[in-house]
Amino acid sequence: MITFDSQHKQVLTSACLTCKDTYFAPARPEMLHVGCCSYSPVFGLFEIFQMIKAGKADFFIETIFQHRSATIMPYEIIINAEVSPLYFEEKIDHLSQIEKDDLRLQYSVCQFFQPQKGCTLPPAYKNSTCRSFICLTVEEQLDEQTQAELQKWNSMIKQEVHAFVEQHRSALQSRGLCLETNVQGVVEYLKSLVYLP
Ligand code: SF4
Ligand code: SF4
Repeated sequence: MITFDSQHKQVLTSACLTCKDTYFAPARPEMLHVGCCSYSPVFGLFEIFQMIKAGKADFFIETIFQHRSATIMPYEIIINAEVSPLYFEEKIDHLSQIEKDDLRLQYSVCQFFQPQKGCTLPPAYKNSTCRSFICLTVEEQLDEQTQAELQKWNSMIKQEVHAFVEQHRSALQSRGLCLETNVQGVVEYLKSLVYLP
């Protein structure tokens, strides 16, 4: 039911083609059913480095950094999901913040999701959440051995990203570089890693 794509280090399942998860169901039946691709992906130093390593620094600048829905932070960029105008017709004043966020998610679609195609982002640029997330509906159908494998794959994916980010965020901080104030400096720093022996 799930497989591990070792080339791109991502967990895949055909269950997504007919997503049955109720938590990630759209708010209204007429809306596009995107499952957990209602998410707003966060791109950190690891993902930016994957783009630069592939010679796609321009893709990073044009598609991520300059995206109209980008929230730029020192070492991360959130590409905020598209929220349906129908969400703003909902009466939400009585809801808690968590309930508001959950409802908003039901009206949201990731900017990289396209009908009939799914995720349009090259797999190598997907963040660790997109590469590892499997919903409870699918996870509960896995036998014990596969659940253990899933945990192993998830920690491998997260550890690789965490180690890279920790090391290179410190190096950038010590050079006074961040995405908010000097994106070109961050790009040049990451390019310099590509040619390290
Ligand atoms: S992981 Fe689960 S929630 Fe996400 S698309 Fe697949 S089946 Fe749906
Ligand atoms: S980047 Fe791709 S996998 Fe991740 S939420 Fe968006 S469409 Fe889904």
